[in-house]
Amino acid sequence: SKIMGSEVERAQQAIHEANKPTIFDKIISKEIPADIIYEDDGCLAFNDVNPQAPVHFLVIPKKRIPMLEMANESDVEILGRLMLVAKKLAQERAPNGYRLVINNGRDGCQSVFHLHIHIVGGRQLGWPPG
Ligand code: 5GP
Repeated sequence: SKIMGSEVERAQQAIHEANKPTIFDKIISKEIPADIIYEDDGCLAFNDVNPQAPVHFLVIPKKRIPMLEMANESDVEILGRLMLVAKKLAQERAPNGYRLVINNGRDGCQSVFHLHIHIVGGRQLGWPPG
């Protein structure tokens, strides 16, 4: 399971890279493999390589928005699409309930600077998150 300290360190490193392409660009272009579960013109969904629950996948825009903080009015449509794609995939995979998470910035523990929604489920989740 995730060791909080190292995750925070990764996030602190990654924030300096916020304007560079990320590994998710390479997943979008199929340069590196991922367990892709959905794709359309605007978004991609794939299983997280380090799952925190029985169901844990990511939904990302193909357009690189580094973080939610950098989304703007021109992103209204894609932001809505991401939520609807997340919901459609989640209701199939975690019919008893699920959670959407967007980590933003250092304190949010964001480590990959390409906007992504985490969808976690398949077990009883706790609240509040850490
Ligand atoms: P963040 O901490 O930025 O919100 O989440 C990044 C997520 O991306 C982490 O849960 C991490 O496991 C996942 N991740 C990082 N690199 C890869 C990769 O190459 N492939 C996949 N499938 N997931 C990745």
